[in-house]
Parts: sequence; C-alpha cells; structure tokens
Amino acid sequence: DEVASQIAAGEVVERPASVVKELVENALDAGATSIHIKVDAAGKRLIEVSDDGCGISMEEMRIAMARHATSKLRRAEDLFHITSLGFRGEALASIASVSRMTLESKTRTEKTGARLIVEGGKESQFEPAGLPGGTTVRVEDLFLTVPARLKFLKTDATERSQIDSLVARYALAYPDVRFQLVQDGHSSLSTPGNGNRREVLAGLYGVDLARQMIEVLLQEENLNLTGFISPVSVTRATRRDITFFVNGRWVQDPALSSALVQAYHTMLMVGRYPAAALFLKLEPEEVDVNVHPAKAEVRFRSQDKVFSVVQRGVRRALLASSP
Ligand code: ADP
Ligand code: MG
Repeated sequence: DEVASQIAAGEVVERPASVVKELVENALDAGATSIHIKVDAAGKRLIEVSDDGCGISMEEMRIAMARHATSKLRRAEDLFHITSLGFRGEALASIASVSRMTLESKTRTEKTGARLIVEGGKESQFEPAGLPGGTTVRVEDLFLTVPARLKFLKTDATERSQIDSLVARYALAYPDVRFQLVQDGHSSLSTPGNGNRREVLAGLYGVDLARQMIEVLLQEENLNLTGFISPVSVTRATRRDITFFVNGRWVQDPALSSALVQAYHTMLMVGRYPAAALFLKLEPEEVDVNVHPAKAEVRFRSQDKVFSVVQRGVRRALLASSP
C-alpha cells in the first residue's frame, strides 16, 4: 500500500505547485472565504494552506487522510454530476505519503479542534488542539520519502513562479475569495475578495497587459462564458498566457486553446497566442471531469457547441473593442 500511495502520488503530486493546487481546491470545496498560503524554499521546505472553511471534525480526520476517502461523492452516479473540485479522495493521502503533513482543523460545531501528523504516510501524532474554525494543512519536506523526485524539479525560481501563477489563476477564478500568498516571507499576491475580477487580473498578467485586456461575456442557453482576452495588438503572449476554467476548475485542454486561437485566426500571425482568462459555466452533466488524475483535462458532451461559444464570445469582444 505504501508503494501504491507513492505511485498515486506521482500522478497527483508532480511538483510543489500541484500540492498548492490540491490544497487550494480543498479549501474552496470547504467554502472558504479566505485562503492564506505560505511557501518556503519554492515549496520544498514548506507549503501551508489555511482556510476558514467548514473544517473536518476530529472523527473524520483520519478518514480524510486515507486513500480514496472523499466526503464529496456519495454514489457512483454522482461522478456524472460533479459540483466539487475534488472527488477522487486521493490528494491528502498522496501528499502525506511523500512528506510530513500536519492537518489541523476545527468545524463550526466543535469546541476544540484536532491535530493529526503523518510522516511519510505513517501517523505520528493525533491530539485535540485549541484551534480557530477552519483547516490548516502544512506540508513539510516534500518528497522526503522519494528524494529522486526532487531531481525532476526545475530551478527554485521556476517552481516559485509556477506557484505564483497558479494562485493568481485561482484568485481570478474565485474573485469572491480573499487569497494571500507569501513566499519566503514576502507577500507575492494578495486579493481583496470583493468579487471584482478586473482588480485581480494584474496578478496573473501584470499591470500593463491587464489594463489592455478586453472583457468577454456571452450567455447562450445553458452556457455562460466570461473573462478577459488581449487585443490583437498584444503580440508578446505565449501559450502559457491562456487560462481556462470550466465550472470553477482549471483545465489545460489543448483543444479548447486551439478553439480560442482560431477565433483570432484572421487577425493573428501563425504561431502567435493571445493572453486570455476565460471562465465557462455549464451544467455539470455536460462535462466529464474524471478523465485525468490531476483533473486537468475535461470532455464536453457537446464539444462543438462549447468551442463555438468560445469563438463567438471572443470574436464579439474583439470586434466591439476595435476602433
Ligand atoms: P477529495 O478532495 O477528492 O475529496 P482529498 O484527499 O483532497 O480528496 O481530501 C479528502 C477529504 O478531506 C475531503 O473529501 C474533505 O472531506 C476533507 N478535506 C480536505 N481538505 C479540507 C479542507 N481544507 N476543509 C475541509 N475538509 C477538507
Ligand atoms: Mg481534494
């Protein structure tokens, strides 16, 4: 089982940013309105995510840490109606198998909370603890049990900036939630959580580009597209400046990106990319998110319809903004 956890961990936890992603998604699923993230040494020494969400009761803490344990799906049919970001019950167990993890939590109804420490997948401490409501997950010495994996990481600067852009993306997707990211003692992102996406845009694209970006808005039947795109005059964007969220989930789907790029095709030189942060909302039944362990890819039931909405939404925004 030890080996099985570490293999699963390889799929879910590729790098420090993937740990941050899973922990932030858990905080969002818990209904947090404020999420505080602390990272030291590019996540290799410490990744700590605190939220003010619903918390985990003391009885459920060990279960939460177990593999394939999720509180988010009750029946198999639920897999086709996923409304939470997590559903595989794999993240905490996987991360705990390759680090030292401290889980601290208190629900709204409990008087005191509890602290559970797991080292390399083995429980080393479990005790009641006086805590505020919500959850803190502290991940220390990531890949301690699989040091070979450390060799596959990029430079600290790269891993750090991956974390920065990941958190910036989620902050943009969840403008009602306050995000704070502190790396090595320095604040690298702080959002007000006031619902205003435009204010958060600079966190991902920088002040200059953010100011130039055009708002996208298209509502069609059960499909809702919102977000921002760069005007055609912006030529320094790369593939990585394209961000899609589908029903609150960050997806990296090449087909979706090419649909977007095609909307620019008569206006953009071949090989050029726009900068874009687009948010699609549709019925959960219309999307299959259970395609990839890291949940990064999705399948749409009506792919052509989704692509066409993206393209029309983008073209319309570009046309409306051109002088
Ligand atoms: P999943 O998110 O797929 O259910 P995880 O391994 O990420 O699996 O988490 C396991 C369980 O632990 C969740 O289903 C949830 O019940 C609980 N949990 C994890 N993080 C939090 C959190 N920040 N707040 C409340 N509950 C949490
Ligand atoms: Mg999860």
